[in-house]
Amino acid sequence: MESFITDKAYINGKWESVADSFEVLNPYNGEVVGRAADCDKALAEATVKHAHVAFQSWKNTCAKARSSILKKWFELILKNQKSLAELITKENGKPIKESIGEVAYAASFVEWLAEEAKRNYGTTIPTPHPNKRLMSIKQPIGVAGMITPWNFPAGMITRKACAAIAAGCTVVLKPAEDTPFSALAIAKLGEEAGLPAGVLNIIPSSREHAPEIGNVICTHPDVAAVSFTGSTATGKILLGLAASTVKKVSMELGGLAPFIVFDSADMNKVIPNAIACKFRYMGQTCVCANRIFVQESVHDEFVSKLVAAMKKELILGDTLDPANSFGPLINEKALEKVVESQVEDAIKNGATVVCGGKRGSLGGTFYEPTLITGVTPAMKCCNEETFGPIAAIIKFKTEDEVIALANDSRVGLAGYFFSNDVAQCWRVAEKLEVGMVGINEGLMSTAEAPFGGVKESGLGREGSQFALDEFTEMKYMCWGV
Ligand code: ADP
Repeated sequence: MESFITDKAYINGKWESVADSFEVLNPYNGEVVGRAADCDKALAEATVKHAHVAFQSWKNTCAKARSSILKKWFELILKNQKSLAELITKENGKPIKESIGEVAYAASFVEWLAEEAKRNYGTTIPTPHPNKRLMSIKQPIGVAGMITPWNFPAGMITRKACAAIAAGCTVVLKPAEDTPFSALAIAKLGEEAGLPAGVLNIIPSSREHAPEIGNVICTHPDVAAVSFTGSTATGKILLGLAASTVKKVSMELGGLAPFIVFDSADMNKVIPNAIACKFRYMGQTCVCANRIFVQESVHDEFVSKLVAAMKKELILGDTLDPANSFGPLINEKALEKVVESQVEDAIKNGATVVCGGKRGSLGGTFYEPTLITGVTPAMKCCNEETFGPIAAIIKFKTEDEVIALANDSRVGLAGYFFSNDVAQCWRVAEKLEVGMVGINEGLMSTAEAPFGGVKESGLGREGSQFALDEFTEMKYMCWGV
């Protein structure tokens, strides 16, 4: 694992020393994981130039050649699964069992995109004119600039960068300041797999330098596409900047996922899915259940069973110990601003804390798994993404009522519901205003399926047969004959 810690940036196939550096801390114990390169505007501009030069040859490689590098890369990631998982856990406090899962998830995108690289088909179009023949081809768009978050420090790199690379694009990527080493580690394995210089460039920066790097990525004329995952607030800034040069933009932003339990649902299925959907990585994923709606006839049963499962399944402790399933939140800001203020607001407005509701006894940024009942739609926890371990329970009476409540939001990423009424399943799945819906299922993300949101949750899709579309231009050819 230590061999992946570096204070260098990866630019044009070289491990470059950078004048400044910043500390990366382990959220579990506050220890310094290492110092990372603090890139700035000038370096970002120079990196874009290198990526642009590299694009001139990478775009002409055959899909099969790109695919075989990606396949080797996939194998190397799996070979290094344990050390990559330890790195993720040290950087972002993810319990080690989940980090091992994240490495497999990250690798699955490399494998999938290696396969998709060879299937970026164009079309032949039946002609309406006897003297013309029509077709379309797909071409790589150019340099893709990327900005990624801390919650999936390996998965977000491969899901984005490998789609661009598979399509024949080159990449300039700024990882989150909390988790730069995982991104650099993935790049190191890419280099080992045979990625040519300049195809993938990683330029970490401190939070202070993030806006200036974001500015280069979103306004430089040599960047053709921007891909961002993070908060809706930052996404809107970047989308505005990208307008000046009309870049192709894809964004995965915040969610406020409804998780609906109808009275016909099988509680034996609901409870483990609620635990996984709400509490994995302590609730710090954009598809975690945010608003849990429970039909009144099963409300009390659901609450008592979920509390019992939380006490049994969520074990707080050392994040590197596989016996534990629950770690600290990413940082103090997340704890205070989001989790504590949401719980305070709910209590002030009449909600009841059934369990948790306070910082964990292990100190640091631990917060106890929390369940609150009597939540109403006006409360903060129903309107601001929680990104923490709070199960907020809202009682409802009818299907129409809950659909209206679930859709009363400016965001729409994931949504989940549990029901054994087939007709209801069709109705609700179609009516929920989200990009992804789990029907009797709380974990749905996989490389084969399109990931993305509607409304202010973003633009575009990642993974799936559509992944390369974000990084390709369709060119129509009309042949006179
Ligand atoms: P979070 O609050 O969870 O860190 P952000 O959206 O702020 O979510 O961060 C996601 C990514 O966006 C990180 O890589 C971060 O450094 C980057 N970022 C934050 N603000 C800006 C900005 N103004 N310009 C460019 N990147 C930014």
